[in-house]
Amino acid sequence: MGGAGNRLVRKGSRAHIRDPKAKVFNKVLHCNNSVRGVRSIRCMGLLLWLFMSVAGAAETPRVVATIHPLALLVGDVAGESVSLTTLLPPGTEPHHAMLGIRQRQVLAEADLVFWVGPDLEAFLAKTLALRKDEGVLRASAIVGETKARVQGETDAHLWLNPENGRRLYDALADWFSQRYPAMAATIRDRQREFHRRFEETLGDLRDQFPVTGKGYIADHDAYRHFSDYFDIPFVGALTDSAGLSLGARTHGELRRAQNAACVVVEASGPSPGARNIARHLGIDTVVVDPMAVEVESGATGGGYLALLRRVAQGFRQCLDG
Ligand SMILES: [Zn+2]
Repeated sequence: MGGAGNRLVRKGSRAHIRDPKAKVFNKVLHCNNSVRGVRSIRCMGLLLWLFMSVAGAAETPRVVATIHPLALLVGDVAGESVSLTTLLPPGTEPHHAMLGIRQRQVLAEADLVFWVGPDLEAFLAKTLALRKDEGVLRASAIVGETKARVQGETDAHLWLNPENGRRLYDALADWFSQRYPAMAATIRDRQREFHRRFEETLGDLRDQFPVTGKGYIADHDAYRHFSDYFDIPFVGALTDSAGLSLGARTHGELRRAQNAACVVVEASGPSPGARNIARHLGIDTVVVDPMAVEVESGATGGGYLALLRRVAQGFRQCLDG
């Protein structure tokens, strides 16, 4: 995170100035008083530094996205004009994450916090309830009650439905354009380009599915926003969408499944149960990362669409194989 320091921090009704830059500011004042007329190079440097950091803090919105897919969307919308931090490092399981001291600080300094909602990041619910609404975007609220569900059940991995991804993109574009008018023209240009590429990408992906009449078993029930959208049959899962194990009865049923082409597993690899079922049914395990951590946020604005292509590629591998 760049530009830490001289930022107004609102605590209750009082405004405090954080320490480091306030100290420098005092030094600059001291420069003016003590070296009348002739300012030393050091003093000029201090003035310049103070000016640049204050200007930088005012212009560059600090954004925290909780997980990588949301960070990809922010990067696509706003590119380099925001300072973006992903709260949970790649590979962190959001269902059971905890909030550390450093993360609290990053959240306190953010102009915008973009999260999925309490169904995914339960560890943030209390902290974000204390924040002012204008500095928070909750994805599950943006896509709405019905779109956050799959066949009547809440599934927090909602970014895997492309329509949800597009809604989230548009909500972010509105948010930045309204609060930072200087960014609006660029944001709207990027948005038009995103919509064009979105249609193109979806056209490609629709042509790819369904591949066969067979479906997939999921190690973790995280993919149904995607598989439902593209009519890929879902056979069953070993842990539910909240990350809880579904128990022996479900395992027993899955061991008798007739129509599974593979067991889809997360980037961390198959659980012992997934490996066991794949061996029993004589099918492969295939890694499909719902977070798409390998996809980098790019200046070209194609991060989210690359995520969709990556997930599609995984499902093709499952169903083709
Ligand atoms: Zn999950």
